[in-house]
Amino acid sequence: MKDTIPLGRFAGVRIGLHWSVAGIVALVAVGLGVYWLPVAFPGHAPVAYALGGAVSAVLLVCSVLAHELAHSVVARRNGVVVEGITLWLLGGVARLRGEARTAGADFRIAVVGPASSAVLALVFGVGGWMAVRLGADELIVAVLGYLAVLNAVVAVFNLVPAAPLDGGRVLRSALWALTGDRFRAAVWSAWAGRGFGFLLIVAGLAEVLGRSTGGLWLVLVGLFIVNMASAEERQARIGVALAGISVGDVMSSPVETVEARQSVEQFFRDAVVSHRHSAFPVLDEHGQLRGLVTLQHLREVPVEVRGGTALGQVACPVEKIAVAEPGEPLALVLPRMTQTSRGRILVCSAGELRGIISPSDVARVLSDHSLTATLPAGADLTWEPETRPPPSDWWFPGQQRPR
Ligand SMILES: [Zn+2]
Repeated sequence: MKDTIPLGRFAGVRIGLHWSVAGIVALVAVGLGVYWLPVAFPGHAPVAYALGGAVSAVLLVCSVLAHELAHSVVARRNGVVVEGITLWLLGGVARLRGEARTAGADFRIAVVGPASSAVLALVFGVGGWMAVRLGADELIVAVLGYLAVLNAVVAVFNLVPAAPLDGGRVLRSALWALTGDRFRAAVWSAWAGRGFGFLLIVAGLAEVLGRSTGGLWLVLVGLFIVNMASAEERQARIGVALAGISVGDVMSSPVETVEARQSVEQFFRDAVVSHRHSAFPVLDEHGQLRGLVTLQHLREVPVEVRGGTALGQVACPVEKIAVAEPGEPLALVLPRMTQTSRGRILVCSAGELRGIISPSDVARVLSDHSLTATLPAGADLTWEPETRPPPSDWWFPGQQRPR
């Protein structure tokens, strides 16, 4: 989900809209403004219904945003980097980089989403009750009631103990705390997720056969959950297979480095023949790390400018390189490989460069564990984005629409 319209930052978190969010806004606005409100509360001006529908749609999207922000803020407090939030057709996604370090953090990051939806349901509910007491227009009461019910539905639905729903994360954290094995816990909660997804598909198809188009939404959400749960299971299985293997076990060490001042032409003429690797940390004259170059990218430098181009100029800058410590579990640092287009992880400890991990190092370990089939072919391992489990949330538009 990359094609997003940036909305700016809130509480330090980047927020974007995927174009598909327009579909859900339209569905809610039309569902309420054209169908439900005029039928349930006749006698108002058409513009009042349209306004009610539009305000409901916008506040619903804001509610989902609040839910995702809650995940994001708690994730950051627990040391997990948040890439941003994307709002789309089926709700929202808070994209987290990396995983919680403890079962407790995993639990907190997951449970705060439904908790915030429950609080919103309460706020809208109390607002509706006060609107009644103050004798406000019935359309205002209806909109507040709709938002209270929908936020309650979001809270309850996302608490179903099935990955990738928040409840699946809660289940995973509980199993993790009980067994001490985060990856096995993730496999089990992914199984629950697949089962729940299939259940939704069957329920949706039954509704469609009963001539209700609402079933199509269930089928769509069910398919999505099955897909996400399967991807999570694949990743968790890699984690199970790599249990006990640390970064230090697979890294190439010592690391072959190159000098930032050296030209690309000189590099190809003198050095590349003697080097066995395909990626090289770039050091300045003081021995400080300045970046990383790969053969693949150096070959893209046009031959005629290679003489006048220093390695330091074309290196991937330090802040964009993924870094790990030798003692970290390999399975946990693998997702970091996609953070840079270079696909390498530098291993440092106490500020010193200790080693480097390339996709082929990882592929070798995985093949030792008969896991080659789960990886794409080719030298560069591209960690599929969908194998990184973002907390995802779903909600049902038009729940309140009359049948
Ligand atoms: Zn959530």
